[in-house]
Amino acid sequence: MGDIYDLIVVGGGPAGMMAAGRAAERGKTVILLEKTHRPGRKLLLCASGRCNVTNTAPPDVFLNVYGRGGPFLRTALEVFDNKKLRSFLSSYGVETIEENKGRVFPESQNAGSVLKILEAYLHNHHGKILTNSPVICIKKEDISVFEVKTRQGNFEGRNVLIATGGLSYPATGSTGDGYALAVSFSHTITPLYPAIIAFETAETWVKSVQGTPMKNIHVTAYQQNRKIAEHFGEALFTHYGISGPAILDISKRLVECLLNGPIQIRIDFKPQYTREELDSILLTRIKQHGGKAIKSCLTFFIPEKLVPVMVKLSSLEPQKKASQITTGERKKIGKQLKGLPLTLVRHRPIQEAIVTAGGINLHEVNAKTMESKRITGLYFAGEVLDIDGPTGGFNLQAAFSTGYLAGNSVK
Ligand SMILES: Cc1cc2nc3c(=O)[nH]c(=O)nc-3n(C[C@H](O)[C@H](O)[C@H](O)COP(=O)(O)OP(=O)(O)OC[C@H]3O[C@@H](n4cnc5c(N)ncnc54)[C@H](O)[C@@H]3O)c2cc1C
Repeated sequence: MGDIYDLIVVGGGPAGMMAAGRAAERGKTVILLEKTHRPGRKLLLCASGRCNVTNTAPPDVFLNVYGRGGPFLRTALEVFDNKKLRSFLSSYGVETIEENKGRVFPESQNAGSVLKILEAYLHNHHGKILTNSPVICIKKEDISVFEVKTRQGNFEGRNVLIATGGLSYPATGSTGDGYALAVSFSHTITPLYPAIIAFETAETWVKSVQGTPMKNIHVTAYQQNRKIAEHFGEALFTHYGISGPAILDISKRLVECLLNGPIQIRIDFKPQYTREELDSILLTRIKQHGGKAIKSCLTFFIPEKLVPVMVKLSSLEPQKKASQITTGERKKIGKQLKGLPLTLVRHRPIQEAIVTAGGINLHEVNAKTMESKRITGLYFAGEVLDIDGPTGGFNLQAAFSTGYLAGNSVK
């Protein structure tokens, strides 16, 4: 069997890599077992390869964005917060820059530069990485030693960290193995569902406008006439429905509500105007362009590709001249511009999610160390835990913070 490691890390994502590096830095003997041919495959996909590593939000905002997970993350975020992450990256020569909404990216705009640092952090402190080594099971028959089985062979460790990620983008290696490993140690898993995800709509016309972005819109979601969520920002039509930041940021709530049936959303293309103000702007445009077809007036308000849809939904004759539009017809257009209706019928599969909600029950994990409250020496970090945040760098920060705290805590 060979050496007994101080720490065996299962999973080479940002959480596992950070934990392994920190434990090795503290002088622990560490081996990281990664299922695929290389660590950090999901990290490399982050923000289309640009890697939104964290956010500049202040601590109180950080604690809030994770919802129920916020209080659990308090110590992890104190020990290794966004500032410490940025100075850690900087100490390895990767400077970071802030973009809109506090999003922080490596100046290189390259996720590969972040992954290289994590690898260097581990190697510099003599930690090992073994790739193509999926962990099949973990046993603790001896009181102080875990036996970790892979197809490559078995390993022994005084501590084990499960950092296998969530269920999304399975091609990156994150297929939910950690849940079964945790259950084998009598841990419980809270329900798993996609937290940042796009939606399919009942309206099939979306296909005709797929790829059309909508900027500065306000989306309001209703269920049984009750407002359930709203958001301002950008959205995007897809061949199946709707996606984009304004949708993704409220998607967790929408997924939860979809269990009770379809959701109506309304898209306000001109949220800065009241319905009356918009009507008067529309009237002015109609007067100015009376000789032109009504559809050419509408490009002032919505993307050109969307105009035929809007004309149809307002039951207008597309070639009708602007000057021939009746007051009733104008009001119909205004109504669509202030609330284009869509019906969300289902979310996309969890495999397409940015992050998985649910996971290892936080009540069973010591928030000050990331150690299991049930099994001494068993640790958890990253998305495998019941933690998820919104877009903006919060999920990577949670992975780095919980990973660092676990690596900092192993005895
Ligand atoms: C397309 C996309 C873009 C994203 N962009 C961002 C972003 O810009 N900013 C942000 O904050 N978040 C982003 N996220 C979310 C973020 O990537 C994850 O929350 C984060 O990677 C979770 O880190 P982790 O280490 O917990 O798990 P993962 O990154 O999922 O890593 C888990 C690792 O464990 C390995 N593994 C699994 N099972 C086993 C096993 N049995 N044995 C050994 N190894 C195993 C996997 O191969 C994988 O390498 C994005 C996610 C996606 C899908």
